[in-house]
Amino acid sequence: MTLFNHTAAIQLVTDLIAIPGKSTQEGRVIKFLCDALRRAGVPDSAITLDDANKRSSAGGEVGNLIVKLPGTKRGPRRLLMAHVDTVPLAVGAKPIREGEIIKSADPTTALGGDDRAGAAVLLNTLLTILKQKLPHPPLTFFWPVQEEIGLMGARHVQPRSLGNPKLCFNWDGGLAHIAAIGATGAYDLNIDVFGTPAHAGAHPEQGASAIAMASLAIADLTANGWHGLIVKGKHRGTSNVGLITGGEATNVVTPHVRVRAEARSHDPKFRLKIVNAFRDAFTKAAQQVHTDAGQPGRVDFRSELKYESFQLPLDEPSVTTACDAIRAAGLEPEMRVSNGGLDANWLTAHGLPTVTLGCGQAGIHTTDEVLHIASFLKACEIALRLASTPA
Ligand SMILES: [Zn+2]
Repeated sequence: MTLFNHTAAIQLVTDLIAIPGKSTQEGRVIKFLCDALRRAGVPDSAITLDDANKRSSAGGEVGNLIVKLPGTKRGPRRLLMAHVDTVPLAVGAKPIREGEIIKSADPTTALGGDDRAGAAVLLNTLLTILKQKLPHPPLTFFWPVQEEIGLMGARHVQPRSLGNPKLCFNWDGGLAHIAAIGATGAYDLNIDVFGTPAHAGAHPEQGASAIAMASLAIADLTANGWHGLIVKGKHRGTSNVGLITGGEATNVVTPHVRVRAEARSHDPKFRLKIVNAFRDAFTKAAQQVHTDAGQPGRVDFRSELKYESFQLPLDEPSVTTACDAIRAAGLEPEMRVSNGGLDANWLTAHGLPTVTLGCGQAGIHTTDEVLHIASFLKACEIALRLASTPA
């Protein structure tokens, strides 16, 4: 098997983790990657920064980074991808090695191995191929932004800009033998509840409290099993009211509350049922609270599909090729279906079936996050096989 420089790979991931870059603020990470590519002789014509940040509702200082290399041998194009943003908790991480792991020296931050480890796997693969002049089919390296805030980079990439790859591999979370071949789908729910303001001491009966309406709705959803883990017969899903904002003073009957929630299920029809249960509960609750003149509340309910669920068949070429590479690296592949969204949801929706592999991350999105070095190096080996050697 092709060898690569382990010390250099560990240095790359350490350097990448040390760069602050939460979602929408990935400019320095992208610059680090571009500088490394140019130093390695990748021509500017092969490097594209797209405008996904202009199409993302979150804005953002930079778009996705896409690098396309022509093949030195024939074969279908292969795509390797890993998101470059981290959760805000990882900003300020100071990566240090402690035996077989890398952790943050600052106990108040996450590490950000999610997903700088994946970004490093890609960069190490590209640099190793160029340095060792390894023969390879046409390759696309894709570093999307804004994964952690709703898969925005992968959602807004122009699929054509990826060069029509036939095999697609994403590195994001878990140990190197994990292969996620499916993931759940999710809706974002934005619910505005409107009541009627009144003086809470002098004439509360002339008001209708939006807070009371929202409370009744959430109590209804909870009592009937539509909040949290949802199990209805053989159907499963989850929902969560994550944010409530509203109200300005205790002496005013609150006229407006904004509620933000989400609904997830692998089953698209059942996911819509959850959304409808939310709509019904809020609509009903708004009718239950009214002013003394009989004026009830009102609800403005908006649902947006954040990402559709997917499940790749076991004989999908990206899956079989990934599993072969994991076995060739001496590991036994473990297939999973994720209960969180992945950039692979959007790639697959764009017509590019994508398998998601781990690269040593553990405890992601928490201050206990670590990176397992041996697993990270295995992922580098697997990626190098996928990019440069026939299965
Ligand atoms: Zn991630």
